[in-house]
Formats: sequence, structure tokens, C-alpha cells
Amino acid sequence: MIKPTIDAHVHLNTPSRGKMEKAVDEGVSFLSINTDIPFFPSLSDQKRVALQLAEEYPGRVRFITSFSVEGWEDEHWETKALNEIKKGLDDGAAGVKIWKNIGMDLKDQHGDFVMIDHPKFDSIFQYLEDNGILVIGHLGEPKNCWLPLDEMTVDSDREYFSKHPQYHMHLHPNYPTYEKQIFARDQRLKKHKNLKFVGLHLASLEWNVDAVSNWLDTFPNTMTDLAERICHLQYQATIDHKKVKSFIMNHQDRLIYGTDVIDDGSLSESEIQRKFENLWQSHWDFFSSGKTLSAPEFKDSFNGLELEKSILEKIFHTNAQKTYGFQPLTT
Ligand SMILES: [Zn+2]
Repeated sequence: MIKPTIDAHVHLNTPSRGKMEKAVDEGVSFLSINTDIPFFPSLSDQKRVALQLAEEYPGRVRFITSFSVEGWEDEHWETKALNEIKKGLDDGAAGVKIWKNIGMDLKDQHGDFVMIDHPKFDSIFQYLEDNGILVIGHLGEPKNCWLPLDEMTVDSDREYFSKHPQYHMHLHPNYPTYEKQIFARDQRLKKHKNLKFVGLHLASLEWNVDAVSNWLDTFPNTMTDLAERICHLQYQATIDHKKVKSFIMNHQDRLIYGTDVIDDGSLSESEIQRKFENLWQSHWDFFSSGKTLSAPEFKDSFNGLELEKSILEKIFHTNAQKTYGFQPLTT
């Protein structure tokens, strides 16, 4: 791995020190993304943990704040959500997260799904755009989510959606389609041309690097992260290695590395250390070496991308540093 590295998409939901010691050893800093997920601790607990770790390990942890959609129908909801956002930013957040619960869970009083381009979000997005506040969005899901389990391209999606059938859209034909999710997100971005936005998880266009490429070209103020979708690049590299490599080279200033590890206390200190170590090493091998590699998510082998050092530095460090405002480390 290259030092320093920023793993710019993790969920540090416990104050355990093992992963931090590992990060210090490897020269890694973390972006902990607070998210309004039902099986996560509360947003205020997530923030408390991030602030505690940031204090104990100076320069190693930044965090992203979020807001709740509870009481969305109330007339004062926008004010409440804005206050929650401002409080998070005052506490040091690097930006604001929006999640797939908008588009896939939240409903209005008629029972219709509320999408991110709904006018009720206008004033919030206007505020974020006018004040240059970074927004990071996980909207929609991988395209696999709309397929039966046996047609999905990678095991990680198969595993996640078999464990979380409530999010497996193939089972919920009455939910908005993949195309509707992408459309609503892009409509929102079209309304806010100056909004600083990171489309997480390869902007939910992970299935085709050409689609990600078009999206980045259409929305020049955006970045995208690779979190939990590197296997989709690897899968495409089994089919067209050159295309994946050109995609990375062409968009080297817009791509941000992250693992999406969820630190929820279910692993022991040594297990989570090993988990980070294995992910960092296998991802590094893919981007930096020309070795023939395999991934746990599918059976075919593929070759590493052999990217040059200047590109690796951007993806593993500089792009995240600039986007999320990490200070250079003093040690
Ligand atoms: Zn995540």
C-alpha cells in the first residue's frame, strides 16, 4: 500500500482501538460516514464515536454527518433537518450523507415512494449548494439488486441481498425501478449545477464503466467512490481489461478509494485488523500490480491494472484529501 492512504468510506461505529492501531501502522486515515440505517447506532452515537476517535488519533479520522427523515410529512421537517445538518457541520463534519432510504423506503401520505428529486428537498439542497457544502449520496443500488440471486454478477451482492431481502428489489416489483432511482438522482443534480457531490459506490452505475464515465462527464462537479464496488471493476476486467484501465486513467482526478467496512463490534480486534489488511492489500494489488489475480466474489481470474504511481496516489489519497478536507499528517 501507498503511504499515506485514505480509506474514505468506512463506518466506524465503535470506539475500539485495534483498527486505529492498524491504520497508524499502515499510514491510513479514515472517513467515517454517518448514515441513517435502521441497524446502525443512532446518528448522534455515530458522530460521538467519530469525534472520540478523531481526538484520540489526530488527523486520522474525519466524518460525514446526516439527517433523519422521521416526520418527513410535518411542515417543520425541513427546518429540523437543516438544523441537524448545521449541527453536524458545526461539530466538524466534512459533508452530508444522503442514503437510499430516500427512493426505496420513505413514502408520502398517499403511499407513494418519495424520490430525491421531490420538491420538499428543494430548500435543503439549495442551502447546501449556496453554501458550498459537500453532499455524498448512496442512492439506488447496484443493478444486481433488481435481478434474481442466481443472475447477479458478484457474490457480495448475492450475499447482501439474501441477508437483506427487504432491500432486494427483484422481490419488490412495486418499488421504483433501477432506472427511476438513477433518473431522480440525476434530476436533482441537474437542478444544482454547483453542488459539490460524491456519487458513492461508483454512483450506482458499477455494472458498466462507460455508464460511470458518462455520468462523470455529464456532472463535472462530482466525484465517485469505489467503496464495496471494486469487485465490479475486477469483474469487468475479466471481460475487457483495457477498458477498465482506460476508465481509471481518464477519470484519475475523480475517483476515491474506500472499503465500506462496517465496524459494528461483531469482530474481535484481531479479526477487524485482518479484515482491513486483506482488503487494503488485495485492492492495492489490483490497482498497482500486473499480477493475475482472483477475487472472492466471482470465479474468473483477471489481471491487475498496473497503474502508475501518480494515478495511485490520487485514487488512494489526494482525491479524498481534497474532497473531504483531510489535513496532512504530522507523524
Ligand atoms: Zn457505506
